Amino acid sequence: MSCSEFSLIEKYFSRQAISRSDVLLGIGDDAAVMRLGLDEQLVVSTDTMVAGVHFPEATSPFDIGYKLMAVNLSDLAAMGAQPRWASLALTLPESNDDWLAQFAAGLFELAKQYSVQLVGGDTTRGPLTLTLTLQGTVASDQYLQRNTAQPGDAIVVSGQLGDAGLALRQLLAKDNIHAEGLARLNRPTPRVVLGQSLLGTATAVIDISDGLIADLGHILDASKLGAQIQLADLPLSETVKLTTKDGDWSLPLNAGDDYELCFTLPEAQLARLDQQDCLLTKIGRVVEKKGIECITPAGGLFTPQKAGYNHFSSALQAESLS
Ligand code: ADP
Ligand code: MG
Repeated sequence: MSCSEFSLIEKYFSRQAISRSDVLLGIGDDAAVMRLGLDEQLVVSTDTMVAGVHFPEATSPFDIGYKLMAVNLSDLAAMGAQPRWASLALTLPESNDDWLAQFAAGLFELAKQYSVQLVGGDTTRGPLTLTLTLQGTVASDQYLQRNTAQPGDAIVVSGQLGDAGLALRQLLAKDNIHAEGLARLNRPTPRVVLGQSLLGTATAVIDISDGLIADLGHILDASKLGAQIQLADLPLSETVKLTTKDGDWSLPLNAGDDYELCFTLPEAQLARLDQQDCLLTKIGRVVEKKGIECITPAGGLFTPQKAGYNHFSSALQAESLS
């Protein structure tokens, strides 16, 4: 490693607000060493973000750092895990002080909120690509899975759907951007506390990164079941609701980037969800018949697109190539 790479790590990543007592050896050696309790299980997740594919090239470095941490926290939330340690693989076209300072500030803002310590990583030169590996723990055998939904379960989602997708559409169309949507796109709220509270209550959990239909579809495929969704019950902001007026449900159903949790649980357990700090909405139920059936507010049947919203990657790639 060159001297400048070393000073880059020292300057931007070694000093952190969080210093966990379970980190025996952090940044600076060949690998990190952390202490695990006997009754704990390790939960590990990795997510990569590529400029122009996972975020528009013009995204601020603060937001890139924030979102990188948020999307990984969201994966751990969907497992019911307590996040603890992170490692960062950074590929940069150049070493730019302003960029690095802001990126680190965004990353560490969420890291601090969830007591996550960065314990290592790698730094290379190339097209802007960011990979975060996040490690967390769950007690004994208490993790949440996708393949365990049961017929008759209620289907619940956190927060509201489609705002991030709307902001992305507007961004790509160079339209006026709905500010709340842009905040949802760039700084999603990982539902870490909710995820942990679902241990022992939810039968199956997933985080919605590729759109409700695609991600709920993963739960249903893995559980070999189907679902009936009431479109009138979808939790939507006024702005997203307007886009559905003429029967276009693509934003709440297929746009990605919501990073809300979608989970199933027995109807009788719904009352246990009352004490949450985020909006939770029952949107439908799990049925034996495979596939996802959507009921419109007028009572008709609506067939959703199967795939997640892919406008993002294709449009951005086309843009970045031009
Ligand atoms: P090695 O050559 O032994 O793999 P490196 O030179 O890649 O080590 O890294 C030196 C130290 O800095 C290691 O502890 C590594 O985990 C850490 N590190 C490198 N890049 C980053 C980064 N982007 N963020 C955090 N820690 C990093
Ligand atoms: Mg290395």
